[in-house]
Amino acid sequence: MTARLSGRTAVLIGGAVGIGRGIAQRLLEEGAQLIVGDVNDTAGFDLMRSLGLDQGQFLKVDVSSAADCKALADLAVSRFGKLDILVQNAGIYPVALIDEATVEHWDHVMAVNLRGAFVSTKACVPLMRANGWGRVVFTSSITGPRVVSHGLAAYAATKAGINGFIKVAALELATAGITVNGVEPGNILTEGLQSGRSTQFIQSMERSIPMGRLGTPRDIANAVCFLASDDAAYITGTTIVVDGGQTLPENKDF
Ligand code: NAD
Repeated sequence: MTARLSGRTAVLIGGAVGIGRGIAQRLLEEGAQLIVGDVNDTAGFDLMRSLGLDQGQFLKVDVSSAADCKALADLAVSRFGKLDILVQNAGIYPVALIDEATVEHWDHVMAVNLRGAFVSTKACVPLMRANGWGRVVFTSSITGPRVVSHGLAAYAATKAGINGFIKVAALELATAGITVNGVEPGNILTEGLQSGRSTQFIQSMERSIPMGRLGTPRDIANAVCFLASDDAAYITGTTIVVDGGQTLPENKDF
């Protein structure tokens, strides 16, 4: 396999577990120099150990904090001299029906998933401008842009919002050599997905997917690394659906 990201410095937010962990592994395989930020520092330092990285390549950050995102971007520059790639993967998907959801629930999901997209971009893009090359990749979702599900109103609004943000950011940054794209995962087997869901529910999810299995973090990481590489040089302002065919209009099981 070629190391498509050799010489590039990547900042990954929400990399400690789940899809993010798979992205961290894959970015390294592609040769990137990696800085990871996550609110879960126990899992973050464990990730550093398991990948054989220095503990200083991890920083505890809350993606909804502009100051935290700035500190993470600055760490990339102090450690590796530059910042080329931002992967903003941190996201939460707590379930609450609109009748029962509180304003605090709504604000929290907005803060992590949507404000996080804005403040992380604001922190990293000026450093990419300095190089005349940059890649911003968001983990969006099929939920919001393509499908809906009971209890995920706030989540769906944030992921549809991220897709809108991607388009405007791509437009504004096109002449700076910076592309902005996203990946829309279907149902990916992670800690977050399994939490609060029964085995029967997970099995019913599998049956609704034409390829007959849930996705893996690596399935998403492959698409993220493609978008972060020069192979995707002429792609900006769009999202790649990685869902095993789940949202195909012909899929009657969904
Ligand atoms: P997960 O809960 O397993 O992992 C999420 C990671 O983000 C964790 O490491 C967590 O600590 C971190 N995080 C949460 N809040 C944060 C914050 N405020 N600041 C920094 N880091 C924070 O979730 P996952 O299933 O791996 O999902 C990752 C991304 O993929 C999310 O954006 C999610 O919306 C999206 N997604 C997941 C699925 C799926 O089926 N798993 C489907 C579609 C989209």
